[in-house]
Amino acid sequence: MKPRLVIVGASYAGLQLAASARESGHDGDIVLIGDEPHAPYQRPPLSKGFLTGSFAEERLPLRSPAFYGEMQIQWMPSTRALRIDRERKQIELHDGARLAYDHLALTTGARVRKLDCKGASHDAVYYLRDLRDARRLVERTQTARRAVVVGGGYIGLEAAASLRQKGLDVTVVETEARVLARVASPSISVIMQRAHTRHGVSLALGRKVVAIHDVADGVAVELDDGARLSCDLVVVGIGVLPNTELAAGCGLDVAGGIVVDACARTSDPSIVAAGDCAAFVPYWAPAGSAACRIESVQNANDMARTAAASVLGRSEPYRAVPWFWSDQYDLKLQMAGVNTGFTGFAMRGSIDEGKFSLFYFRDDRLVAVDSINRPQDHMLARKLLSTGTRLSVEDVNDPGFDLKAFANRDAGVAHGAAS
Ligand code: ADP
Repeated sequence: MKPRLVIVGASYAGLQLAASARESGHDGDIVLIGDEPHAPYQRPPLSKGFLTGSFAEERLPLRSPAFYGEMQIQWMPSTRALRIDRERKQIELHDGARLAYDHLALTTGARVRKLDCKGASHDAVYYLRDLRDARRLVERTQTARRAVVVGGGYIGLEAAASLRQKGLDVTVVETEARVLARVASPSISVIMQRAHTRHGVSLALGRKVVAIHDVADGVAVELDDGARLSCDLVVVGIGVLPNTELAAGCGLDVAGGIVVDACARTSDPSIVAAGDCAAFVPYWAPAGSAACRIESVQNANDMARTAAASVLGRSEPYRAVPWFWSDQYDLKLQMAGVNTGFTGFAMRGSIDEGKFSLFYFRDDRLVAVDSINRPQDHMLARKLLSTGTRLSVEDVNDPGFDLKAFANRDAGVAHGAAS
C-alpha cells in the first residue's frame, strides 16, 4: 500500500504542502481537507482590492480547478476534522466518517480574535479573515458612510485605506501609542500614520473600545475616554489565534501554536505542521528563544515545503528569509528580515518622494529592510539577507553605492555583468 498523506487545512500552507509533496515524489493519496466551501484562495486581497472592488472574486483561487486533478490532490471542501486518533492513525470528520492516514499534516491556520466588550456581537461588527467575512463587509459598504476600524495592525490599516478609498469616513482605534506597534519599527509607524491622516482617516491612538451601542442611525463605539464614535459599521482587526485544538486534543506539544522543529515535525513522527498554526524557533532567533508563530504567506508557503520534505523522509530545515508586504493607498510597503532588537538603521531614497528603504542593523549586521515603493531594494534585501552578505551602514548611506551590483556580485553574477 502506498502511504496516504492527509492534510487538514486548505489554505496557503495546506495547498503548498500538497503540491510540494506530489512534486517531490509522494506517490500515494493526498487528501486535502478544508472546512470552507471554496477551493484555496488568496487572502491578502480581501482587505485590499477585493474590498475596494478592484480585485474580482474570480481572481481569488490560488489554483485552477484542473490543478487538483492533474496533481491527484483529493480536495474535500466543507469538511471539518474533529479529532485525531494517533494510535489508529485516523482522523474523525464532522459527519462521523473516519479517514486513515500514514502521514498527517496540520495546516489549520488561525482564526480572528474577537472583540470582547459590551455590544461586540452587534450585526454592524465585521471581521476580515475569510471570503465569507469579506463578502459580507463588501455588501455593507455599498450603503454605509461611516466606519470605525478597531486595531491598527496590517488588517485594520488596510481595511481603513480601502474603506477610505471607497469614500467612507473612517476612524481607526488602536490601544497602543502607535499603529503597527507589534510588527513595524517606530519610523514605519509614523510614516503610515501620516499617510492615513493625509487621506482623511482619524486616528484614536492609545484608546480602547469599551462598548458598542445600538443607536437610531447605526452604532456608537464608546472609547475608554468617554468618546462615542457614531458609525454604520465596525471592522475589527485585533489579531488572530492559532487553531491548535486538534493538536492539543491528541496530546501533541502546543505552546502558543503547534510546536514543531526546524523541519516542521511535531512531537509525533507521523505528523507535521506548518503555517499560521505552527510555532517554532526560527533560525535567526538567539539560542534559547521561545518558539513563535509567523503570520505571513511567505511563512506558510516556505514552511509547507519543509514539511513536505519531512513527509518524504528528507530533512530540509526551514531557513527562508521572512518577507511580507502591505498595500495602503499608493504605498507599497515590503519588509524583508526581522528587525527585532535592531541597534541602528540607515536609509536610501527619499521620504519626501515617498520612495525609500530603511536598512536595520544589529551589531553591524544587516537584519532587515523595510521598503516603501522601492521594490528593487526589497528583492535585493532578500538576496543579501539569504546570503548573509556584510553590508555596512556607510555603504547604505553612500548615494553612489550600487546596491544592485553589490548584491549580484555576491551571488557571483556581477563580474559577468560588469565585464
Ligand atoms: P492583524 O493581523 O489583525 O492586523 P496584529 O496583531 O498585527 O493583527 O494587529 C492588531 C492590532 O490591534 C495591534 O496593533 C493591537 O495593539 C491592536 N489591538 C488589540 N486589541 C485591541 C482593542 N481591543 N482595541 C484596539 N486595538 C486593539
